[in-house]
Amino acid sequence: MSRPAYAEIDIAALKHNLSLVRKHAPQSKIISVVKANAYGHGAVNVAKALDADTDMMTVSCIEEAAALRKFGIKADILLLEGVFEAQELAECVRLKLDLVVHNSEQVEQLSNCKIDQTFNVWLKVDTGMHRLGILPEETQFFYKKLQNCSCVSTIRLMTHFSSADLLEHPINSIQIQRFSEQLREFERADIIVESSMANSAGILAWPQSHYDWVRPGIMLYGISPFAFQHEHAKALQAVMTLKSKVIAVREIAEGEIVGYGATWKANKPSRIATIAIGYGDGYPRNAKSGTPVLVNGQRAKLAGRVSMDLIGVDITDLDKVCVGDEVELWGKQLSVNEVANWADTIGYELVTRMPARVPRIYKNS
Ligand SMILES: *Cc1c(COP(=O)(O)O)cnc(C)c1O
Repeated sequence: MSRPAYAEIDIAALKHNLSLVRKHAPQSKIISVVKANAYGHGAVNVAKALDADTDMMTVSCIEEAAALRKFGIKADILLLEGVFEAQELAECVRLKLDLVVHNSEQVEQLSNCKIDQTFNVWLKVDTGMHRLGILPEETQFFYKKLQNCSCVSTIRLMTHFSSADLLEHPINSIQIQRFSEQLREFERADIIVESSMANSAGILAWPQSHYDWVRPGIMLYGISPFAFQHEHAKALQAVMTLKSKVIAVREIAEGEIVGYGATWKANKPSRIATIAIGYGDGYPRNAKSGTPVLVNGQRAKLAGRVSMDLIGVDITDLDKVCVGDEVELWGKQLSVNEVANWADTIGYELVTRMPARVPRIYKNS
């Protein structure tokens, strides 16, 4: 390896986090969310590690599903937005994919579908997020339409929380209530149907939303979905640790500046370490001066603007730091959510947009 920046991916931690999902939702089956390259962790390697232990996986599009099948993933795979056009249905059959159906157009596509094999479909109900899904009061109407499609076999119901991480927000109980009301209507009509609602925050904070299937994403990667300390998120183990090395150390006089735009100025004689990591490696450019960086396990502060390949860190108050010393940008010892907060974003975004140039190094213990 030449460039010292890399993302260590801890597969044992991933499996530990999956076991926490089972612990919190022991009655539910698990749909592991591996969309967007498994939130930047590498979909194929993550899916291989989860394949035997998850009940299903889910991705956002046919290309993501095809990549998993190509590498031998056996688990059922669900397409989270279904198909974007009817022509994709034949490929879905070939890849053995389950489909979300979230609007009347997709129901029509299945009604008109001439394929002589069948799909499992997940009818998505909009209980209040107002992003995808049919109206709650139309659930049975569309369910029956789907039952009449020759290419549809099992039909399940799902919905999605808008704000499960905000424990005090009234929208959560409204959504749970609307979904459970639909499920009661199905019971009254003697229709047995499986259902799914909870994402990571739902799994950890809303046990009444667990139903038959849960859909963990961020918690599998060991990142808390909450912006505050939550008792149930404590046991999560970070899967991605972004690391690099110190490649230069210098002393600067009081009044000297560091980095592009001269935004950081030394208010006393200072020592600056330059680290081989930058926004070209997924380190956020809008991280402010003061963002924590671990140098040899000691907390230091980002000094000045993030460059494409490099950052400066104020190590004036640290024990001796040398060229070649280890740096952790986030992961095991420094929460990605803490770093994200300094960059006005969330941990989800930082890991998901990790670019291809950063090698993922997988380790198993
Ligand atoms: C991404 C996604 C999830 C996972 O959400 P997390 O907050 O990462 O657990 C679950 N369900 C749907 C529909 C999603 O799009």
